[in-house]
Amino acid sequence: MKQNHTAITPLLLMLMYIGLGFFSIQLGSLNEGNLAVVWLASGAGLILMLRLGRIAPYAVLLSSFAVNTPFYIAKDSLSVRVALLCGLTTAAVDTLQSYLAQRQYQQLLLTEKGDIWPASHRLPIHWLRIGLLPCALTMPALILLQHSIGLMQSGTPSEMIRSTLSLIMGDTAGILLMLPLYQCWLSRRLMHTLRRAWLPMLGVTVFTVIAIFFYKYLMVLSLPIMLYIAVRYLQPGVSIALFIMTQLCVVGTAMGYGQFANASSALAFFNLQLFIFAIMLTMQYHASTQASLQRRQGELEQQIQARTQELISANAQLLELASTDDLTQVPNRREWQKRCAEAIVRSRRYKQPMSIILLDIDHFKKINDRHGHLIGDLVLKRISQICVSKLRTIDTFARWGGEEFVILLPETDQQQATIVAEKLRKTIEAEPLNFEGSQAIRATISLGVTALSMIDLTLDDLITRTDEALYAAKANGRNCVINSDTMSTSYLSPGMNHSAQR
Ligand code: GH3
Ligand code: MG
Ligand code: MG
Repeated sequence: MKQNHTAITPLLLMLMYIGLGFFSIQLGSLNEGNLAVVWLASGAGLILMLRLGRIAPYAVLLSSFAVNTPFYIAKDSLSVRVALLCGLTTAAVDTLQSYLAQRQYQQLLLTEKGDIWPASHRLPIHWLRIGLLPCALTMPALILLQHSIGLMQSGTPSEMIRSTLSLIMGDTAGILLMLPLYQCWLSRRLMHTLRRAWLPMLGVTVFTVIAIFFYKYLMVLSLPIMLYIAVRYLQPGVSIALFIMTQLCVVGTAMGYGQFANASSALAFFNLQLFIFAIMLTMQYHASTQASLQRRQGELEQQIQARTQELISANAQLLELASTDDLTQVPNRREWQKRCAEAIVRSRRYKQPMSIILLDIDHFKKINDRHGHLIGDLVLKRISQICVSKLRTIDTFARWGGEEFVILLPETDQQQATIVAEKLRKTIEAEPLNFEGSQAIRATISLGVTALSMIDLTLDDLITRTDEALYAAKANGRNCVINSDTMSTSYLSPGMNHSAQR
């Protein structure tokens, strides 16, 4: 990862390395001869490698040299020349380790498609490749070096193995504790989490201090506390809390307090490392699982929202389709009946009049025969449009079927409805219907009108009466309006009967 940085960045990062290194050596060694319980500098080395590009190896080499050389010089058994040589060799091993860790991190980042927080099932492979592998490959070299210069007493093979393991674990823990903090910082969640979770972090600090210095058996309660932080604050929260808790444990144990201090120093060292690993891996894994779950839940909620929206619009579309006539795009018979039933209830409750009109195109069969079925369709459409344009918005003009239409006129008595019917009849009669490829068509309509009355028990009663009026209009010679009350024509074409009374 090549970064733009000013001269101050490498200096600050090297200072961080040196500071963490001294902290690990001074406070993290349980006694002379043991190295750091957690070698935080190995994590710092990885961060330097990731941030500083080409100068990174020199920066790590220099920083590690600055940290390790005083440690060798302090040994009375070594001459300054040998101590310097040991410091340099150790620094070279550390640099190689940081380089290997950085390579692994970047390779894994490619597989994760740039996601710095791996999914929980990928986490063990990250721990192994970024943490354990670079340390396991380099630390035996350091052990050999320290034995060859007599820094470590040549003990039994099992002691050799344990010290090698401790060194590997200390370095691995350093990487695994520091890397998530770096990732937090990268994703700008470090300060955000600290601001949000300052109280739980303070709680962890106080709790760990009490558990170490006052009541060592309390330490087991760190599990539920860390679990809570993992669930609530995910990887950033866990990273910070783990850092605080483990470093306090290390310092406390080094001072001779807490659960791990009782054993012999070598065992205390090893046991503490085991504890740190157990809590670190468990909590990081748990936070990662929780984050994956929350992410999945978010995705699912989004999917559900999108699906619900689709369903709502599909339903609306379906409703529209189910209630609209395909050809004329006016409401169909079913929809009209529904609206009419509602209008009857309203009309009765508020004691307001209500009327309906049945409308039938005269001799439509002839129009079809003469001009073709397609033109017939266009006539139906055009007559619908004309009628709708002459009605109020509260009226419902619907297709009853074939070339018959029905109109619902709320708040309209029979007399007013007859006037409306007459207006429609006149308009259609007067308007020539022009279509491309056909001569002008002159259509006429017959209409039956009725108003809702007390005797109507059902909608069918109302329809039947209107149908009779329409039938009378047809019998009366067509192109006229018949009012069911009087069964009289309000208009009669020249030469036709002037009355159609019952
Ligand atoms: P009347 O004046 O007595 O009503 O005579 P009419 O010819 O209009 O009545 P009839 O019931 O005999 O014929 C109605 C015709 O309407 C028959 C049918 O083919 C036609 N028709 C029904 N629905 C449609 C349609 O959607 N498109 C077309 N083009 N014609 C239709
Ligand atoms: Mg007809
Ligand atoms: Mg008809």
